[in-house]
Amino acid sequence: MRRKEELSNEAVSPLAADLHDWYARNHRVLPWRGITDAYRIWISEIILQQTRVVQGYEYYNRFVSRFPDVRALAAADDDEVMKLWQGLGYYSRARNLLAAARQVVERFGGEFPRSYDDIRSLPGIGDYTAAAIASFAYGLPHAVVDGNVYRVLSRIYGIDTPIDTTEGKKLFAALADELLDRQDPGGYNQAMMEFGALYCVPRSPQCGGCIFADRCMALATGRVEELPVKQGRTVVKPRYFNYFYVRHEGYTWVRRREGRDIWRNLYELPLVETAEEQPLDALQQSEVWGELFAGAGRVSVSAQVYSCKHVLSHRVIHARFYVVETEQKPAMPGYLRIEAGAIGDYAVSRLTEGFFEKMSMNYPSLF
Ligand code: SF4
Repeated sequence: MRRKEELSNEAVSPLAADLHDWYARNHRVLPWRGITDAYRIWISEIILQQTRVVQGYEYYNRFVSRFPDVRALAAADDDEVMKLWQGLGYYSRARNLLAAARQVVERFGGEFPRSYDDIRSLPGIGDYTAAAIASFAYGLPHAVVDGNVYRVLSRIYGIDTPIDTTEGKKLFAALADELLDRQDPGGYNQAMMEFGALYCVPRSPQCGGCIFADRCMALATGRVEELPVKQGRTVVKPRYFNYFYVRHEGYTWVRRREGRDIWRNLYELPLVETAEEQPLDALQQSEVWGELFAGAGRVSVSAQVYSCKHVLSHRVIHARFYVVETEQKPAMPGYLRIEAGAIGDYAVSRLTEGFFEKMSMNYPSLF
């Protein structure tokens, strides 16, 4: 990272020059910083999309030590990648990582692409991630625009155009591009995002000692907490999942979720989803129950052992888990019969992981 005095005043905006200085003094040292390996930068950016740095740190280290380059990831077993991702959430990221790694091998001969358009063409890579990889790895002049950048720019320039509108997106993208330091786009992008992550944070930013306090429009007009403005509200839909941990002679059943729903490629216990909350006896009358437990003989169901509310970005899952013992082997169409002791080998959602954790504490004999 170069300091202000080393940069040409003509090419670098005062804002960019101040950011470079601030970054040199304040940035966190992280394993994906200061490197030019596009593969590792890509992995870190995908992990950090919906994950805090503290949590992402461990996942990143595990991921790159298991899959040190794009060819190793492309050759990986899908289930192993999902298992490594377990607990991070937003599992489409892991599926896209695999798909993109395989495309890098097929379309680009195993070399991570070097142009913005080629990088942007890979699954799971949007404008932000493509700009981050292109600028950090190759020094290409593409400005990143993420939540941090929206916040910093809307406050300094006092812009109240909603950031989730087409107009807002265009306006901020143009401003970010105009301010970009073309001599050091990677360094500038890192500095801008780090400033938003550490200093100009959503709640109670550190305006007192801020390097932009003398020119920040939001501070001058008392609108710091109001900016940036968002127009839309996400509609959150409730869903009701009733899971059954079924036991018969040391075996249990799981299935891999398919289709375009949440948690695709993760494993789950036998499920009866209902349109609203249903008591156990109503579940036992349902058609799905009849199919699952056909041929099971006497079925004993524990009183409900675990229930919780699991919040995702567009869904709230109201989940209940029951433990079921069956006299005979149940039909369980579409489910895989596995040894109960091997259940930990399967990648499951954070929700199901929570159930297992609770059960292994309260009922260790079952696990
Ligand atoms: S003065 Fe406050 S709101 Fe303005 S840029 Fe600095 S930290 Fe952000």
